[in-house]
Amino acid sequence: MENSRHDIIIIGAGPSGINCAIEASLAGLSSLILEKGVLVNSLYHFPTNMTFFSTSKKLEIGGIPFISHTDKPTRKEALEYYRRLVESYELSIRYNAEVVAISKQEDGYNVQTKSGEHYFARHIIVNTGFYGNPNKLNIPGEDLPKVKHYYDEAHPYIGRNIVVVGGANSACDVALETWQKGANVTMIVRQPTLYHKVKYWILPNIQNRIAEGSIKAHFSSELVEVSEASVTVNTPDGTLKLDNDYVLAMTGYKPDYSFLENIGIEIQDDEYSTPVYDDSTFESNLPNVYLSGVILGGLHTSKYFIENTRDQGKAILTSILSKQ
Ligand SMILES: Cc1cc2nc3c(=O)[nH]c(=O)nc-3n(C[C@H](O)[C@H](O)[C@H](O)COP(=O)(O)OP(=O)(O)OC[C@H]3O[C@@H](n4cnc5c(N)ncnc54)[C@H](O)[C@@H]3O)c2cc1C
Repeated sequence: MENSRHDIIIIGAGPSGINCAIEASLAGLSSLILEKGVLVNSLYHFPTNMTFFSTSKKLEIGGIPFISHTDKPTRKEALEYYRRLVESYELSIRYNAEVVAISKQEDGYNVQTKSGEHYFARHIIVNTGFYGNPNKLNIPGEDLPKVKHYYDEAHPYIGRNIVVVGGANSACDVALETWQKGANVTMIVRQPTLYHKVKYWILPNIQNRIAEGSIKAHFSSELVEVSEASVTVNTPDGTLKLDNDYVLAMTGYKPDYSFLENIGIEIQDDEYSTPVYDDSTFESNLPNVYLSGVILGGLHTSKYFIENTRDQGKAILTSILSKQ
């Protein structure tokens, strides 16, 4: 596969990358997806028992029906759907292939992976999302194995002292699910209240659990240190040391800006550090290098999701075909 040539190289096998590869196939162009992890790596790392907020119908792409037992699919059903899409369209994907650099050649781009493989394509589509890059706490002890930036399921936390950091949707979901299964939960929230946009069917539940004291919460507070058996928290009432077995840092994620800058994508000096791209073609500042999926929102990580990015692949392929 050294220096193999393709019409399009797609970086990232998330929902958006798969959508672009399907559109390339429908347009009669060859594509190769380079994926640093597994197929739909972000979805694979979602909480085991999560259900999507979208209906299956709204997530469908490539004319392939998305079958689920209720109107909203589970993670397991979504993993199966993307597997079937790859199989049906016979998409070419290299796994464990993290792209680290691209360099301009006369008629396209040379793409290099971390393990030193090289690929060539006339067009590149970057769909690298943000879920692989958690917002770090940057405090002593963050590297201890008991600190998690991804939540899988409640079972390991039964009967344990856990701290959930954050006050948005994921933190509230995790606090409720682990408390329901018997964890002793303390939330550490930097802001004075929970995020006002927490899902309307979750917010009153978590607020009531906090009000009755079932889940403890420290607002306007910050976790400042993690050690093997405790955590240290700065609160408006002073510094506390709490017995602790696990820290679940639900502090969100952000695009990997060093990767984007390494490959030459310019970032706007705006509120959300949005990458530079054309609104109608999704072409970036680099000719023939396109951006698609949630990466387009920069730090505005709730702006784009699967539902509202499904048309981007078609628009990108229209632009690519217009240059053939
Ligand atoms: C709990 C949860 C529930 C959600 N529910 C819904 C919902 O109901 N409806 C909806 O529309 N959206 C939902 N979303 C949002 C949705 O999951 C994302 O919008 C979607 O995953 C974004 O797709 P993407 O392809 O842009 O990025 P991602 O899915 O993040 O894919 C990016 C891919 O790029 C790979 N990658 C990154 N860097 C590199 C590199 N350098 N080289 C190679 N590969 C790389 C990653 O491993 C990953 O596989 C939900 C999100 C969460 C967290």
